[in-house]
Amino acid sequence: MNDCLFCRIIAGDIPSTKVYEDDKVFAFRDINPQAPVHVLIVPKKHLASANEIGEDNLGDVAACFAAVPQIAASEGLSEGYRIINNCGAAAGQTVMHLHFHLIGGRTLGEKII
Ligand code: AMP
Ligand code: ZN
Repeated sequence: MNDCLFCRIIAGDIPSTKVYEDDKVFAFRDINPQAPVHVLIVPKKHLASANEIGEDNLGDVAACFAAVPQIAASEGLSEGYRIINNCGAAAGQTVMHLHFHLIGGRTLGEKII
């Protein structure tokens, strides 16, 4: 998966600002933050999108969510935050490696749901 941007970031081939790492999860600051805190939480296992979530990778996906409280706490998001996943081009997914945006640090306004 040398051609995947996030796989290359996880491997350390492309620099990033890491905020969390364990055996299944890598989290780093978004290069184009939409809020004071904008962290991308990604499974180390390459999954192209949420469409590839299934029985054989539930542990990798669960690990991303299990890391959320620790990351939120270390980022000072005691007032709340939002987790967003864009799945597919029509939803705005631009990097085809499953990732969850963790956004906060200001009052978040418009909501779709
Ligand atoms: P999405 O549009 O949901 O696929 O999200 C992809 C995100 O990756 C965007 O918010 C980009 O700003 C972010 N991004 C792209 N390249 C990098 C990079 N080299 N380091 C950190 N974040 C990046
Ligand atoms: Zn990848």
